[in-house]
Amino acid sequence: MSGPKPRPWIEKLDVYVGGKSRTDGIAKSVKLSSNESALGASPMAVAAYLGEAERLHRYPDAACYDLRAALAKKYDIDPGQIVCGIGSDEILKLACRAYLTPGDEVIFSKHSFMMYPIVTAGFGGVPVEVDDRDFTSDVDNILAAVSEKTRIIFLANPNNPTGTYIPAREVERLWQNIPGDILLVVDGAYAEFVEKEDYRPGIELVRKSRNVLMTRTFSKLYGLAALRLGWGYACGEIIAILDSIRDPFNVPSVTQVAGIAALRDSDFEEKARAHNREWLNYLTAGLQAIGLYPVPSVTNFILIRFPEKDGKTAEAANDFLLKRGYILRWLPGQGLHHCLRLTIGTEDQNRDVLRLLTEFMEQ
Ligand SMILES: *Cc1c(COP(=O)(O)O)cnc(C)c1O
Repeated sequence: MSGPKPRPWIEKLDVYVGGKSRTDGIAKSVKLSSNESALGASPMAVAAYLGEAERLHRYPDAACYDLRAALAKKYDIDPGQIVCGIGSDEILKLACRAYLTPGDEVIFSKHSFMMYPIVTAGFGGVPVEVDDRDFTSDVDNILAAVSEKTRIIFLANPNNPTGTYIPAREVERLWQNIPGDILLVVDGAYAEFVEKEDYRPGIELVRKSRNVLMTRTFSKLYGLAALRLGWGYACGEIIAILDSIRDPFNVPSVTQVAGIAALRDSDFEEKARAHNREWLNYLTAGLQAIGLYPVPSVTNFILIRFPEKDGKTAEAANDFLLKRGYILRWLPGQGLHHCLRLTIGTEDQNRDVLRLLTEFMEQ
């Protein structure tokens, strides 16, 4: 007798492998593998979260009314064009569920967010991976891959795991050269960290388009990864579709109130940006000085290339660090066998990890 048989594309799914969070045999480990906030969350967000504990018997506001109002105010956008989700991962999933028919193609860069192939395949879509250039998304390569079957393009800007970005004019050029029936998803998970004149998270593009969805998250700069809060911004028609297929009570009340409080705490936001600026510079310079090749990053993480000779391989460095309790992200499965991704940590963690890598390079 055989049991129920899943849909054919579900059977073949890869699972998302998160950053390790413990090292064997070491009591205290330092996790710099998931691009989490170095400063934790805003104390105001934590207080709001705790304050909501008295109301756990109540269903959340299904419309996320106050949260959308707070986002709309901060970014000067229409609250009716915002959808909130359980992490931005849910928004990516909703987009696939709404716009993909099994067999449709979805384009994204080779060294990009691991969830893109997973959500694509989860809805029977066909992942189309295109080459990047110098670890940076390449608009020409994306355009060359567009076919009659393309339904969605995922663009992480800035990109994870490489930390690079493309300027607003390049995103605009991509949008201008694709048919209007392709959904362009601009994933701005690290937008809050970027301090470049020519960068835009995608708000202006959404304003003038009918086929662009910008996604954002509270998991990175705001440090609310555990509460799973993300949002999407697009034209009213797209938002209405995504709203119609999401679960009515998708975002818990504790998550909503914490998100609202986080948006109010502009001091924390500035502190987080300043911390990142300082240590991104420190680590980038320090890694270069010891013979490693950090890819220039605008995010809260750095992709480090290793020489891959005389034992100075990413794999050996990863083992060396793990033995000492430091967890970075090695991504051999993504064609990045020669790289480690390092999340910016606290001052002590940053100094320690650079000291350990110096030891590794000198041994
Ligand atoms: C972390 C990340 C996300 C998703 O984060 P959520 O916690 O689901 O909001 C989305 N895109 C990229 C590129 C990321 O790195």
